[in-house]
Amino acid sequence: MVNRMINNKLAIHGGDKIIKNPFVKYNSLGAEEVEAARKVVESGVLSQFIGADDKDFLGGEKVKEFEELCKNYFNVKHVVSVNSWTSGLIAAVGAIGIEPGDEVIVPTWTMCACPTSIVHWNAIPVFADIESETFNINPDSIIKNITYKTKAIMAVDIFGHPSNMKVIREIADKYNLKVISDAAQSPGSKYFNSYTGTLGDIGGYSLNYHKHIHTGEGGILVTNDDLLAERLRLIRNHGEAAVNGYDIKNIENIIGYNFRLGEIECAIGIEQLKKLKDLVDSRIRIANTISSELKHLDGLQLPIVKENCTHVYYSYSMKINITEIGVERSQIANALAAEGLDGVAEGYANLHMLPMYQKKIAYGSSGFPWNSELSRKDVNYNKGICPIAEELHDNSLLSIEMCMHQLNDHDLELLIKAFKKVWGNLDKLK
Ligand SMILES: *Cc1c(COP(=O)(O)O)cnc(C)c1O
Repeated sequence: MVNRMINNKLAIHGGDKIIKNPFVKYNSLGAEEVEAARKVVESGVLSQFIGADDKDFLGGEKVKEFEELCKNYFNVKHVVSVNSWTSGLIAAVGAIGIEPGDEVIVPTWTMCACPTSIVHWNAIPVFADIESETFNINPDSIIKNITYKTKAIMAVDIFGHPSNMKVIREIADKYNLKVISDAAQSPGSKYFNSYTGTLGDIGGYSLNYHKHIHTGEGGILVTNDDLLAERLRLIRNHGEAAVNGYDIKNIENIIGYNFRLGEIECAIGIEQLKKLKDLVDSRIRIANTISSELKHLDGLQLPIVKENCTHVYYSYSMKINITEIGVERSQIANALAAEGLDGVAEGYANLHMLPMYQKKIAYGSSGFPWNSELSRKDVNYNKGICPIAEELHDNSLLSIEMCMHQLNDHDLELLIKAFKKVWGNLDKLK
């Protein structure tokens, strides 16, 4: 009895902590990747791209094999591998023909590379609010933000839950907009019968080491549009030097870069892709266990999964009803951290609040591209434009960063115990 009471004292108040040894870091790599990489190194060919009209314009053997496998896996017509998903986003915005001063609507909750890929083309990101349930871009807010300058929507499957693509597509068709689908956090997730990422004009995935599968750095672009695929391939590989050979008449935004992914990364990517389904399934099983164990905790709204959607839990994001439980989020987060739980995050960045947008300073010091004569002058980044995202960030969103750890059953048990212990002691945190 005495023992139980001691054990039950919160670690933040001097009690024993629940998690004594840090969880093992997430690692999706194994012997197959080692072997695949070794073979490439032994071949001596680490890349075979040539940035000119040449038979090697589309890269070497592993690049082509990886792209072919991705094509079959995601069931798309074209795959273009790139050296990061940031590069992929830049190529996508360029390929759809965004011009200086054009506006692209992007959710305020995403990775910063989404809006910067727009600014990259001297275009203007317009931040939309999110849905309070899925945390994805809010269709009502998209409509509210459409202006005569709007050319595209960037939909991001934040935390691993698919965006509301049917409604987004309807809006896009009505206003003649292109859709870019950022599925960096939702590879292997399904929306109705399609993989996320495949329902935009262009979509894709990140292969950065934080993601479900990775090659260290890398990205995958997908599209079913022949012309867009060609434009993506040109932007990936010094297109200006190759357009003649490809008989390209429309050269707008065909400014070439080196966004090429190497042979080693593609060889590793081939092995990683084979593991994607199991990794995703295991992530879902872990999240479902957490949900079934935490569902009775007061004032805690667990992640919801919309009908015909798979949530692949890049992050397990919850909402705390502060007024109901009478404890600040930070006290809960601190109490969980004291119990030894690493990777609990409060809120999520509201990108419209970044200094770059608050000050409207990107290229040079004069305010370009916002001050360009091509840009609409009253683009608004004030606090208050995304009330749902702002409230969640300021007060109520609490996430377990699922991409950080490789949770086994014992870890999972401890994680759940830590939550239950903190919730059992809420009155002591007031
Ligand atoms: C990780 C991520 C990116 C950027 O991908 P990189 O491969 O790291 O460049 C873009 N968008 C979202 C939503 C991401 O999570």
